[in-house]
Amino acid sequence: MQNNSVAIIGAGIVGLCTAHALRKAGWQVTVFDAQDPGSQCSFGNAGALSEGSVAPLAMPGVIRQAASMLLDSTSALHVPLAYLLPAMPWFVRFIGASRPERVRQIATALHDLLTESVRHHTELAHDIGCAHLIKTTGQLHLYPDANSRDKDKASWQLKADFGLAMQSVDRAAIAELEPAVSDTYRCGWFLPDEGWVSDPFQYSQALARANTD
Ligand SMILES: Cc1cc2nc3c(=O)[nH]c(=O)nc-3n(C[C@H](O)[C@H](O)[C@H](O)COP(=O)(O)OP(=O)(O)OC[C@H]3O[C@@H](n4cnc5c(N)ncnc54)[C@H](O)[C@@H]3O)c2cc1C
Repeated sequence: MQNNSVAIIGAGIVGLCTAHALRKAGWQVTVFDAQDPGSQCSFGNAGALSEGSVAPLAMPGVIRQAASMLLDSTSALHVPLAYLLPAMPWFVRFIGASRPERVRQIATALHDLLTESVRHHTELAHDIGCAHLIKTTGQLHLYPDANSRDKDKASWQLKADFGLAMQSVDRAAIAELEPAVSDTYRCGWFLPDEGWVSDPFQYSQALARANTD
């Protein structure tokens, strides 16, 4: 390899964006992947461009919420009994990461990474000819009642601390913003500056094509 060449392992959205940025900076880039570009996680993610996702999953108090979910076979966090012991080192680190000072460090790192991501993706998509895939209609985060919303209070406070634009919404505001939302959802937050990608797979494929031009 020449001195200005670089190899990237993985042609998901992360590898492809990195390749694009390096090529623009004058590097010769080769991306290695046995799979079709963007066909793994970058195919089925929700496409959210969330500058405000500064709150990590491991927030203070997570141990109280997680403990009951671990043993409930219908919950999203269920771990089979036989796997609890092997998974223990990971859980210890996860709980350690929920200390308030560690949460603040992680949130600061996430904030640095995510700031201006909607603008960066808008420019990138424009660059590679798929500007139509980037939508800037904001995000709605919805709850059935104020009790459920208040369980996430610490996460929302953290987002507010980092300057995220947030509007509290009631049932009437939800219906006005998105009439298709079920009546079950009664309150929440609207984040007007967040964006989304309407087809993450097409976005990855467009990037892969641009990288081979
Ligand atoms: C259900 C779900 C929803 C999500 N929603 C969002 C969202 O809305 N917004 C968001 O930002 N993130 C979301 N995520 C996270 C999201 O998946 C990632 O942000 C993004 O798709 C990760 O891209 P990636 O390139 O790291 O991974 P991938 O798209 O999985 O790409 C990794 C690539 O590396 C290749 N690879 C792995 N090992 C090797 C190897 N040894 N040699 C060569 N190639 C290798 C794989 O084949 C794959 O193509 C979501 C995740 C899930 C599971």
